[in-house]
Amino acid sequence: MGRSSKDKRDIYYRLAKEEGWRARSAFKLLQLDQEFNLFTGVSRAVDLCAAPGSWSQVLSRKLREREEKEGGGEEVKIVAVDLQAMAPLSGVTQIQGDITKRSSVTSRVIRPLPFSHLSVSLMSLALISGFTPAVTGLHDVDEYIQAQLLLAALNITTHVLKPGGTFVAKIFRGKDVTLLYSQLKIFFSGVTCAKPRSSRNSSIEAFVVCQNYRPPEGYVPNMSNPLLDHCYDVDFNQLEGPNRTIVPFLACGDLSAFDSDRTYPLQLDADKQYQYTPPTQPPIRPPYQEACQLRKNNLLSREDAPPACPRRLSCFLSS
Ligand code: SAM
Repeated sequence: MGRSSKDKRDIYYRLAKEEGWRARSAFKLLQLDQEFNLFTGVSRAVDLCAAPGSWSQVLSRKLREREEKEGGGEEVKIVAVDLQAMAPLSGVTQIQGDITKRSSVTSRVIRPLPFSHLSVSLMSLALISGFTPAVTGLHDVDEYIQAQLLLAALNITTHVLKPGGTFVAKIFRGKDVTLLYSQLKIFFSGVTCAKPRSSRNSSIEAFVVCQNYRPPEGYVPNMSNPLLDHCYDVDFNQLEGPNRTIVPFLACGDLSAFDSDRTYPLQLDADKQYQYTPPTQPPIRPPYQEACQLRKNNLLSREDAPPACPRRLSCFLSS
């Protein structure tokens, strides 16, 4: 693949670099905001699973714009959490930790969070194993892990979100999504499944926008993850009436916006010559680094090479 092959295929990838966003997913949040006005009156927000940081960039830009316009309000505070290290972002407090781990979450996220009442909680997560044909069965694993991570994020959110607040998270519209909707409806009066224009139609990815946080009366947030203990011997899709939650499905982002499934010519503007733009924030420790190093030293999968020895590899890499 050439340097610009992804540029050719993916308009949002290209635009993200041109506009200085760390990832194309920035457009998903911007388009969700166009529809839901997520940041009206918001000065405090947490971004869970935030690396490389494009949602934090959007948060920072939106919240500070509002602060400058209105002035005198609550000081803007943004906290971003991820397993991986993130390149610093001005005005964003970054915490490296696992949102599913009780100790790392309670001690490193909730307690030092410089506020106890925030108005927006966001979570966007990666596909864990990639969607491959159904025969592999990996769809189920992806959906399951995504749902568990979403519940871990919701659990953290219940500790810090103020009544009336908003929670936004990526979901996969798989067969058990109805169960998730039901769980979210316990905490929020409005739950909508939204598909931004920049999210490919070919992907079952969507976002739940949960508005008006109102936990059940007497609910006490608990980091032993009670939300994660649910039973799978009930077919939630078979439930009816008030036991089954169906939420509205809304396409958002202007219809004239670029179609993320289409391939556009490199030169969009007849008056402007196409110019390659490097990624705004390249990965800090990309997984392909090891393979590049091996290839450079001619050690990558030679037919005549002896069988791979993990010790030899680690000695080589540390040398
Ligand atoms: N929202 C980000 C943005 O706009 O730049 C993109 C998020 S990326 C698609 C998903 C992130 O989830 C990865 O950086 C990954 O490290 C993080 N992640 C996955 N599992 C996690 C966990 N258990 N705790 C914290 N972060 C996690």
